[in-house]
Amino acid sequence: MSRVLVLNCGSSSVKYRLYDGEEILGSGTVERVGEAGRGPADHETAVRQILDGLDLGGLAAVGHRVVHGGRRFTEPVVVDDAVFSAIEEIVPLAPLHNPANLAGIRVAREALPGVPQVAVFDTAFHHTLPEAAATYAIDRATAERYGVRRYGFHGTSHAYVSRRTAQLLGRPYEELNTITLHLGNGASACAVAGGRSVATSMGMSPLEGLVMGTRSGDLDPTVIFHLRREGGMTVDDIDDLLNHRSGLLGLTGANDMREVQARYEAGDAAATLAFDVYCRRITGYVGAYYALLGRVDAITFTAGVGQHSPEVRAATLANLGRLGIAVDPERNAGSGDRVISPDGAEVAVCVIATDEEREIARETRTVVEGPH
Ligand code: ADP
Repeated sequence: MSRVLVLNCGSSSVKYRLYDGEEILGSGTVERVGEAGRGPADHETAVRQILDGLDLGGLAAVGHRVVHGGRRFTEPVVVDDAVFSAIEEIVPLAPLHNPANLAGIRVAREALPGVPQVAVFDTAFHHTLPEAAATYAIDRATAERYGVRRYGFHGTSHAYVSRRTAQLLGRPYEELNTITLHLGNGASACAVAGGRSVATSMGMSPLEGLVMGTRSGDLDPTVIFHLRREGGMTVDDIDDLLNHRSGLLGLTGANDMREVQARYEAGDAAATLAFDVYCRRITGYVGAYYALLGRVDAITFTAGVGQHSPEVRAATLANLGRLGIAVDPERNAGSGDRVISPDGAEVAVCVIATDEEREIARETRTVVEGPH
């Protein structure tokens, strides 16, 4: 009846989950997509393999993660030809991501005629950003012409985790001001005021903001001109450098925070610096979003690093006592969704496991069946 398949086509992998209501009937990841001889030739092939391997009887809809919804898509939509073309038009804004998402939609539409295909956008949760948050201070006509503005990403995760924070604290979502820190391979911060995204660290693309596994996050745009003019690098070289060879990987040779921390604990200087650069950036965003929100009820850590690194949580929030922010070492060392600040602290610091697939399934169901 309410079976929903979620497809998440990343740049080199396809994740899937089949739900029956809240129950997971099947899930998995096809890796090495596009690596000749080692994995499926392309995303189309990978999605066909997945669909062939599942019993899709009684499927109500397929929910597709789509990274970039541009200005047009502010909520999930059923994909028809016009929507498909509109997502194609956004490809120049997300050349690394949207083509893979579209491949998944194309195959699922062909293979499952009559089953609604729903696009759920990473950008959609951020459509509430105030203009002052979304606007870059460049020539307005140029920005308008080329779609240059802050869109924000990881929206599915920030929405899910901020709502779960309210549940965990037993507070109405509409009244809660939360700073959510999604620290995975990609990483972003979001200020959520009463369920609305009002500031977020990723910008026109997922490159801006926090230090990530392989992305630099914030830097002076002059770095790009300089590498072009003085280093003779092409724009594609620099794009590759900043997206795939920077962040923790660029600073240490390892993109996995576990490895960076192990080396740091062993006294490695490069790893120590990388850990400090990573945490300092987060602290800066927490302070900035505190100032923008005026009042902060909760700070929530999520995703691989956020959920599993007590060291990162402790380091980023150290010395913020004046803001009413503190971490209890014993609670920090625990596990599961929980509050890790001391009892009576002004700001509740939380750890919550994100679940983007579940949120995409929920949104997909809402589109085809109406709100529950
Ligand atoms: P993705 O963004 O690809 O969904 P995740 O949210 O699963 O990734 O985060 C992956 C990252 O989480 C890994 O690269 C690793 O750096 C980090 N991570 C996972 N477990 C730990 C841990 N115990 N300590 C520190 N970092 C961890």
